[in-house]
Amino acid sequence: TVRVRFAPSPTGMFHVGGARSALQNWIYARQHGGVFVLRIEDTDVARNRPEWTEGILDALAWIGIARDTYEGPYFQSTYAEQHCAAAHQLYTSGRAYYCDCTREMIQERAGAQFRGYDGFCRDRSLGPGEGRALRFRTPDEGETRVVDLVRGEPTFDNRLIEDFVIARADGSAVFLLANVVDDMTMGITHVIRAEEHLPNTPKQQLLWDALGRTPPIWAHVPVVVNEKRQKLSKRRDKVALEQYRDEGYLADAMRNYLMLLGWAPANDREIVPWSVIEDEFRIEDVNPSPAFFDEKKLRAFNGEYIRALPPAAFVEACTPWLTGTPVAPGTTDVPAPPWPAANFDPKVFEALAPHAQTRIALLSEIVPNVDFAFLDEPPTDEAAWAKAMKEGSADLLDAAIAAFESASWEAETLKSALEAVGAERGLKLGKAQAPVRVAVTGRSVGLPLFESLEVLGRERTLSRLRAARA
Ligand code: GLU
Repeated sequence: TVRVRFAPSPTGMFHVGGARSALQNWIYARQHGGVFVLRIEDTDVARNRPEWTEGILDALAWIGIARDTYEGPYFQSTYAEQHCAAAHQLYTSGRAYYCDCTREMIQERAGAQFRGYDGFCRDRSLGPGEGRALRFRTPDEGETRVVDLVRGEPTFDNRLIEDFVIARADGSAVFLLANVVDDMTMGITHVIRAEEHLPNTPKQQLLWDALGRTPPIWAHVPVVVNEKRQKLSKRRDKVALEQYRDEGYLADAMRNYLMLLGWAPANDREIVPWSVIEDEFRIEDVNPSPAFFDEKKLRAFNGEYIRALPPAAFVEACTPWLTGTPVAPGTTDVPAPPWPAANFDPKVFEALAPHAQTRIALLSEIVPNVDFAFLDEPPTDEAAWAKAMKEGSADLLDAAIAAFESASWEAETLKSALEAVGAERGLKLGKAQAPVRVAVTGRSVGLPLFESLEVLGRERTLSRLRAARA
């Protein structure tokens, strides 16, 4: 049976490229009645942290890879004995040899010509000992051909593959070997991973052969790049899945978008239900060239997903940002909203929600759109205020107050009332609205004004208008 794995290193936030590979593996397993194995490659003790592992598990669950749908997590660090045993087996079978060359010695012999280790210790028959690393003896001729579902059959000239280290002087296995041994132990049949690992693949396949096992089928999915065609990097780009989650991207929008990195459903469709992706995705159809991570496009996707939510689901999805509670189990709280918690009234929000749902692209944007209803006083935006409060505004506000005092409190009547007030002063509704909006909501743009006033109520609306006149 098909067994695939996702093997993240818990050394930081969860990279969107990693999330993409995880989804591809997960779908591949589903489509082939296979098993998805999760392995945490936690052998870089200096950089690992347990909370990163937790973060990965939570982020996977958030995009739909739930904990009960896979085998594991296994932890690479618990297999150190198997890694060493494999290194030893390669030594005793003559496929590896000890080497006491230091980096400086190797550099010095090679000079400017450095192209990897020169094989100096190959035939010195050194035994194990202080300061000796174990190197794999790579073939001197022929080529190593790998089967790659995305790239055909990449072929590597064995003469260019150096005798690489498989175990350090302290006896511990290097990552390259540990990764192979774990794949063997876990019965992995298909390795779907990022292109960055392609240069390791011939070395790893040689290790499979030397250990007497049939190598897996590989699939190296394209590197993810920014708009300057640079590989997405932690330092420069927004790469953490958690960050997108906490800004209010919907998991469904996110995973739909991630699957489009290197692949697309037929007929120019992009936004499709997950079930369609599960049916139609083919790893063989993934384009090997770099995939552009277009944040603007993702944002637009998210807006579409938000608009497609049933109203109750939209209200629920916004709730973390309105109450400062976690977005998903195990995640950190989103920033607390700017109003006192006791001011939040779910009924008021439900009334405003339909107007907000059509306007926002990120769930976090709900806060500035509805804050006027929950703050004791409207936020002060000096620029908006200065722009709206011109000559004549005072007179207009006074007239609006008078008109609103006696109007029946519904959006339609409030609108006609203000329209009349404006008309008497030769102002179109848009112009007449501006000072009212700023006085009541503190902003120059926002939800439809008269619907907002209706929800806010007569008393609060009037007191804000009067305050603006004081
Ligand atoms: N732990 C490696 C990484 O996070 C994965 C290597 C692999 O998938 O084979 O890049």
